[in-house]
Parts: sequence; structure tokens; C-alpha cells
Amino acid sequence: METIRVRNPRNGQFDYEFPVPESEALARRAADMRGAQREWSARRIESRVDVLQRLKAELLARRVAIVDALTTDTGRHLLAQAEFGGTLGAIDRWCAQAPALVHGDEGRSQAQPTITYRAQLVPYPLVGVISPWNFPLTLSLIDAIPALLAGCAVLIKPSEVTPRFVAPVNEAIRAVPELAAVLDMIPGDGRTGAALVGLVDVVCFTGSVKTGRLVGRSAAEHFIPAFLELGGKDPVIVTESADLELATDIVLRASVLATGQACQSLERVYVQDTIYDRFVSRLVEKASGVPINYPDLHKGVVGPLIFDRQADVIAEQIDDAVKHGARVLCGGVVEIHGGGGRWVRPTVVVDVDHTMKLMADETFGPVMPVMKFHTVDEAVELANFGVYGLSAAVIAGTLEEAEAIAVRIDAGAVSLNDGSLTGVMHEAEKNSFKCSGLGGSRMGPAGLTRFFRKKALLRQTGKPATIGMFDESNAPR
Ligand code: NAD
Repeated sequence: METIRVRNPRNGQFDYEFPVPESEALARRAADMRGAQREWSARRIESRVDVLQRLKAELLARRVAIVDALTTDTGRHLLAQAEFGGTLGAIDRWCAQAPALVHGDEGRSQAQPTITYRAQLVPYPLVGVISPWNFPLTLSLIDAIPALLAGCAVLIKPSEVTPRFVAPVNEAIRAVPELAAVLDMIPGDGRTGAALVGLVDVVCFTGSVKTGRLVGRSAAEHFIPAFLELGGKDPVIVTESADLELATDIVLRASVLATGQACQSLERVYVQDTIYDRFVSRLVEKASGVPINYPDLHKGVVGPLIFDRQADVIAEQIDDAVKHGARVLCGGVVEIHGGGGRWVRPTVVVDVDHTMKLMADETFGPVMPVMKFHTVDEAVELANFGVYGLSAAVIAGTLEEAEAIAVRIDAGAVSLNDGSLTGVMHEAEKNSFKCSGLGGSRMGPAGLTRFFRKKALLRQTGKPATIGMFDESNAPR
């Protein structure tokens, strides 16, 4: 049996492996889950809420095992705890919201008042979820929870880079038999992901634009919808009216968030020329003092790079920028610790421009390239550069000033006088712009209702028309 070996991000050792799922077994599991979904969707919403709450209790009972596995998967502990807590919170939030979202509306035709309608909400039978490695638990369950409450079965393929958390989570799922019939996590690599697209009725994919294009193409061939949540190159605009202390705090936190391994981390910093020098020197001062979480996992701020090839991407982008005239003011080096773990400290780069990979491509690391702008119009143009449009931020003296700029930015969400708020604010619907994604919003009510097809039940309450309605002699002359 073929297995996949898994690297530990803190020491570079391959210390875990798991079997590659066989395609027949995957297809059988999908068919079984599709069969079980009928009973699941026929339940009242209160019953599905109850089952999800039992899952929450089973997850809680395995808290230590799950958080430990996530800690090993990602090389960081606090964020593993946060992922766990956030997932329980998401179960509660959706359980509270779902009852109001699962009933279709009713109405009457304006043109033909004897015709009334009721919308029947028909869940897609089987949802496929393909998730990345940066927040392994969160991004495996973020779409699965609302899909289950909508009445779908959900088959999840977590990333092959971070699969250790799957075993204790599957144990929790199996402790709730009604749920185990309609929810499963099967880790695998791209081959399993590609096979999954052909087995499901809708696919939720979170990952890179490159893979997202493949998934989108395959979904089109299978004639199923694809909800694609892809990469970003989030800009932040800092105007001269901004509070410098707050602005540098925000940029540092929202860029270095999860070692920059977050789709919504800030990756391009545009600062008004009048405050540029003071901003850069304060940012460098603050960034230089941020410690890595090595050798002690329980001390420090910046975790290792989870995926070793990401370290190569970061190094290559910094090299390319320096070759083209950029200056690295702090950080900028891939440090090896623990034998083979790779860390990058918060990095500030100046004298950058849009011809550099560092300003055009997703970095997914704790790197803050800073550029100056003169007018707000120029800042908006700079922020709208590139193929991504996931999210953005504007920091100004007032929320009104920030908002006037934000409405001109091509991105699915803009944080005003803060950064990366999409990571914590899940109530507001948002659609990605440009190559950052496709499909209905994952956030807000649509995060659940997008798992329904709306079927219109059209009732004739009056006398149906006869064939006479097409009699040409009745046509006005
Ligand atoms: P990736 O695209 O390499 O892999 C994502 C998933 O796709 C993995 O599970 C992988 O096994 C699977 N996969 C690979 N090839 C496949 C194929 N041909 N068909 C189907 N599935 C396949 O992404 P990654 O490196 O794991 O994650 C990082 C990326 O995810 C970054 O670009 C980041 O911005 C993005 N991301 C986006 C969001 C968002 O909400 N928009 C959130 C987190 C991460």
C-alpha cells in the first residue's frame, strides 16, 4: 500500500505517514454517504442541530489530542488552540443561525395573482471539501458545518501536509453515529482531491489559484458548482492622518499573522510619502523585536513555515526584489533550527516596485514590502494592482476617511482602521474579486444557503388557462 510521509515543521523530520486512499474505497464511501444523506436531510433542523452539538461535545472530549496533533502539524501551539476554540464557536454560531435559514419563502405572482409559490430548498446531496495546510482544522470544517446543517453529506479531503489532526477528529465524528454516516475526513494528496471532484455534487476548495483553476475546470467538466477560496496579495493603505503607533501595530500584526501563512495576511504596504520615513523606522523597530517560537514552543511569536517549499518561495521573492534594487531592513533570511525546521523573522523590505515578484505574487510569509504614495488616487491605483482581490485594509485618521478609500478598492472585504478582520468576522457576506475566488460567499447567511438549490413549487389557485389563450383571433389588431 502506498503511503505519504509527512514532515514535522519544527525539525524537518518525516515522522508520520498515512496510506493513500484507494480510489474504489473513496468512490464507495461517497456512494454510501450519498445514500445516508436522504435520511439526514429529511430530519428536522432541530435534530441536525442536536447532532452537531453532540459532535461539539465529542470534539471537546478530545481537545488535548486534537490540539496536540494540530500543534505538531503546524509547529505552533496558541493558534492550534485558537483553531480548536474557533471551530467549536463556528458550530455554535451556525447552530444558532441555521433554523432561520433553512425554510424557503412564499409569495404570489404580481402578473398572475392566482399563482402562488413556495420555495423548496433542496440541499446538494454530497459536498466535497478540499482544504489547505495553513489552518488545517478551521479550513476543513468552515464550509462543512453549514453544509451539514443545510442537510448535505460532506466528504473532506484535508491537506497531505498537515494530516495528523484527522485521526482524533474522525474519532469524534464516529462517536456520533448519525453524523458519521454523512461526514468523513479522508486525507490524501492532489490525486485524491482530483478524484473527489468527480464524486460529489458541489466542491468547496480552499487553496492556491493554481490548483483552484484545475478544480474549477474539473468541476465544469463534471457540471457541478465550485466554490473557490483562493490566494491573496492583500494591500494596506496608510494615510498621513493615521495614528503611527496604531498603524505600525496593525500592519505588523496583520502581516505576521500565522507567520504570514494566512490568505488574509497583509502583503503589500502603501504609505503616504509625508509619514513614510517615520512609519518605516517604527515598523522596523517593532518588527525586529518579534521572537520566533524556537527553541521553546511555548515562548515566542513567529512559528515555523509549515510547508518547506513555501520557504523557498519566500527566499526566491526576497532575492528577486534585492536583485532589482530593494533593501531588506530586518529579517529576510530563512533560518534553520531543530535540524531542519525553517523560520523567517518579520521582514521589512523597502525600495520595492510592482515589477518585483514580491509585490505581484503571493508570498505567504511574514514579509512587509513597503512602498510610498503621494495622493489617495495613486494609493487606490497601487492597491488595485495585480491578479488578486481577496481582501485589503485602509488605516486613516477617521473611519469616514478610511471608508471613502475602501469603497474604491477591488477586494471582497476591506478592514477599516484594522487589518485581516475577515479572519475573525464571519457574519458579513463577501465575494472574492479577480483571481482570489469564485462562487457564493462563505461568510454570512449565504455560507449556508449556497448549499441549497431553490426549487419553485408553483400553485395555480384559480382556473388554469385553456388552449384558447393561444387563439390568434384573440390577438389585438
Ligand atoms: P494548494 O492549492 O497547493 O492545495 C490545496 C489543497 O488542494 C490540498 O488539499 C491539496 O492536496 C489539494 N490538491 C492539490 N492538487 C489538486 C488537484 N489537482 N485537484 C484537487 N485538489 C488538489 O494550496 P496550499 O498550499 O495547501 O494552501 C495555501 C494556499 O491556500 C494559499 O494560496 C492561500 O492563500 C490559500 N488559502 C486561501 C484561503 C481563502 O479563504 N481564500 C484560506 C486559506 C488558504
